[in-house]
Amino acid sequence: MKRRLSTSLLAALVAIPALLASAPGARAASALPSMAAVPYALLPTKAAVWVTVPSGTVVTVRHAGGSVIGSSTSVTGHALLVLWQPTGSRSSYVVTAPGYAPLTVSASTSATSLSGAPWRITNKRNALPSTYVPTGLQTVGSRQLTSSAATAIRQLIAGAAAVGLTTAVNSGYRSYDSQRALYDQDVKQYGQKVADNLVARPGFSEHQLGLAADLTNAPCTNSSCTTTTATGRWIAANAWRYGFVLSNAVGKTAVTGWQSEPWHVRYFGTPLTAYVHARQILTEEDLFGLPAAPTY
Ligand SMILES: [Zn+2]
Repeated sequence: MKRRLSTSLLAALVAIPALLASAPGARAASALPSMAAVPYALLPTKAAVWVTVPSGTVVTVRHAGGSVIGSSTSVTGHALLVLWQPTGSRSSYVVTAPGYAPLTVSASTSATSLSGAPWRITNKRNALPSTYVPTGLQTVGSRQLTSSAATAIRQLIAGAAAVGLTTAVNSGYRSYDSQRALYDQDVKQYGQKVADNLVARPGFSEHQLGLAADLTNAPCTNSSCTTTTATGRWIAANAWRYGFVLSNAVGKTAVTGWQSEPWHVRYFGTPLTAYVHARQILTEEDLFGLPAAPTY
């Protein structure tokens, strides 16, 4: 008897939330699941929206109150929408996908939003301000990287060590002034034309972001080494697992403006680099739909 009463009581308690959920208002609110969408500033005139939805879902974006301006199909559980917007502006977008509640996302490309933006882009067509200094630099060996990149590069180095390979950070964060010193030194030694193919002018280096590292590529000791070394091959095959891309890929000089640099890795975080790996995208310009940047 006691057991029967307890069972009935339990059934009644279980029914209460079900009754509440069946109220008209609650049903309407839960009818469509919501997406997660995160805005990222890329450039003063370009923002990205990163949407988390099951792979294969087609995601569409429009200006709030406007017509459709782009769409993307989710890969590795994410869709990437890249949007032009006026310099330094904040724009509202409405992201829609079949079976999901529409979502309004506000993306800013102001100087404040770009400061520390984890996906910020610089190439030969897009300079960083001379005053730009990343916050939260951490020491890795004798070099510095921003916090997330530092953690990830330590994991990459440990991953290489686990398969018997040795690598280390040969160059990390470089200030505008230290980049200028490197560039001026190469101009003096080789002339400007050659220097412009060897080292970025000040304000145009991913190293100034604190998100790029040059890795030693044992047993090679100079920059002529390629992916033919075991370490180079491992970096090329595995950097994405740690959140890095090889910015200056083999055969992409016409897009990146740089010869292959198998030692130079740029941090974006693993959700994005898994997406890049799955879609076999080789350059940041192709990833974000930016014009090629072969020259300044
Ligand atoms: Zn580099």
